[in-house]
Amino acid sequence: MSNVVELLEKLIKPKSLNLCGGGSDNFLRKEELYAALNVAVSKHAFGLNALLMTQFSDLSATNHVAKILLRHAEDQGISFHEIKVSIAVCTVAKIPLEVQVKKIKSLHKRYGPRSFRSRKLITTWKKRIESLERSGGHFHLIQKHRDDIKLEEKSLDSWAMKQAKTSTICPRCKGTGKASSKSCSSCDGLGRFSPSMREMKQEIISRGISESELGLTWYAEIINLMNIIHIAQGEVVQEMKLRYELESI
Ligand SMILES: [Zn+2]
Repeated sequence: MSNVVELLEKLIKPKSLNLCGGGSDNFLRKEELYAALNVAVSKHAFGLNALLMTQFSDLSATNHVAKILLRHAEDQGISFHEIKVSIAVCTVAKIPLEVQVKKIKSLHKRYGPRSFRSRKLITTWKKRIESLERSGGHFHLIQKHRDDIKLEEKSLDSWAMKQAKTSTICPRCKGTGKASSKSCSSCDGLGRFSPSMREMKQEIISRGISESELGLTWYAEIINLMNIIHIAQGEVVQEMKLRYELESI
C-alpha cells in the first residue's frame, strides 16, 4: 500500500509535490499523482474515501463512507442499521466506541504526556498543604492549593476524555505494543484497542436496544459492513498501484 499512501500524502501535503513535473527520482511527477488519483476518484470514490478515512483519519471521508454504507444497509433492510453502520465505520476508522472510551481515558490519565506534569503539580501542592497544616493557620493559602488541585484534576480529566474519544492507540505503549521492553499488558501487546464482540454488543445495548430485539445476525451484519469498506479500499489500492506503475514506466 506504500505507493498509494505516498500519493495521498502528497495530495494532502502538496508542498512535497514536485510541481515542476521534472521527473526527479525522489519525487512523483504531478501527472503520475493526478492520473492515479483521477482513476481512483472516478471509478472508486467510496474506496478512495475509505482509504483517506483509515490512513489520514479524514473526517469528511469518514462521513462519506458512513453515508454510503447507511444507504446500503437501509436498502438491505438491516435492523437498527444506523447503530450497526456507526460501529462498523468506527471500528475500521479506529475511532473508539463509547464503551471503549472509559478504559482509554483512564490510561491517558495514568500514562499520557499530560499526566506526569499533573501528578507532579498535585504532589507539590499536597506537600505544601501538609506543611502549612503542621505550622497552623494559613487557611487561605491551604484553600487555594486545594482549589488548584481540584482544577488540575478537572483539566487532566477533560484532556484525557478528549484524547480517548479520538484515538484507539494505547496511551501506555503509544501504539508500539511494548512497555518497559515487555509486551504491553494494557493492550496485550497490540498497541491499539479494537472493540471485541462483547464491547460491540454493549455499545448497541447502551444505545437503547434490548438483547432480544437484537437477534442473532447482528455481529455478522457488522462484520459484513466492515468487509464492504475493506474490499472497496483494496480495490482502489490495486487500481492506483496499477496506474502508478503504468505512469512510472
Ligand atoms: Zn499498549
